[in-house]
Amino acid sequence: MPFAHDTEVSLAAAAALVNTGGDDEGLPDTAALDTFVGKWGYTGEFRHDGAELNEVRALRPRLRRIWQADEDEVVAIVNSLLREAQALPQLVKHDEWSYHLHATPPAAPLATRMAVEAAMAIVDVIRSDELRRLRICDYRDCGNVVVDLSKNRSKRFCDDGCGNRAAVAAYRARKSMPAAQ
Ligand SMILES: [Zn+2]
Ligand SMILES: [Zn+2]
Repeated sequence: MPFAHDTEVSLAAAAALVNTGGDDEGLPDTAALDTFVGKWGYTGEFRHDGAELNEVRALRPRLRRIWQADEDEVVAIVNSLLREAQALPQLVKHDEWSYHLHATPPAAPLATRMAVEAAMAIVDVIRSDELRRLRICDYRDCGNVVVDLSKNRSKRFCDDGCGNRAAVAAYRARKSMPAAQ
């Protein structure tokens, strides 16, 4: 575990959010956003309206840049996300979670809370000099972002099944190779 638990959850949630913005819209309506929010355990207020959905969708390309940019640009993105939200880190404890950081009040808009949570997690990544753990999926044409939390930094594929697809493709390639004489 390279990072604190809440950082790892936040990174995974940020990656999942970015990956809803692929060719198939993963957040087509507010019901899909409700499901996403429930799955990743975001707490606080939700408006369940189209404006909120649009704000969350608009956050995705900004977060995606974090997976593609160099360290200085990532720092600039993170700092501006924190500045715009006037983030104020506080240790809190709620539901089944032990003390972790919240840097926005529960009444802040959902997209703001998502942005700040992601930004705070990236702060940890930068401070630990682990930006290389944020990568793009190796599978051809996938384009999904990957958070590599493995011990030996060996995760190459996203969680959308690309690991399996790559294994099947490798198996087929081996089978179609002419037998050695
Ligand atoms: Zn919390
Ligand atoms: Zn992939």
